[in-house]
Order: sequence, then structure tokens, then C-alpha cells
Amino acid sequence: MCPRCRSNDISPSRSWKLGDPFMALFRMRPFRCRQCQTRFYLPASLGDHIKQEREWMHEVQEREEKAPPD
Ligand SMILES: [Zn+2]
Repeated sequence: MCPRCRSNDISPSRSWKLGDPFMALFRMRPFRCRQCQTRFYLPASLGDHIKQEREWMHEVQEREEKAPPD
């Protein structure tokens, strides 16, 4: 649920931002509200009901694999 407008019309965020890998360590994932465009984090367990979850995780895994080594 969106923390700003309380809408349930949210989707996993497609954009990968600087703080996201850090948040992922705490099993938090970025979501975006389709009503007010607010971007926020939710615990991964709360996003399990979202249809695009599996697709989104695949996208993240690809990004991690393509990331250059340190
Ligand atoms: Zn909202």
C-alpha cells in the first residue's frame, strides 16, 4: 500500500537507483505508486502478491550478473 495516498495500485519499480542494493540487504524492495508516482520501499515479503514480482526478480538478477566486478 502506498504510504502517501494509501492506494493499493502499486508495482515494483523498474528503475534501479543508487540506494537499492543497500536496501536489498534488508530484504526491502523498491515499489512505485501508480496513483501519485511516489517511490518507496516495502519488505520483500509484502510484495509477494504482486503479479510482476517474479518477472521483476529476474530483471534484478540479470542486472547483478552484468555488473562489473570490483
Ligand atoms: Zn500513492
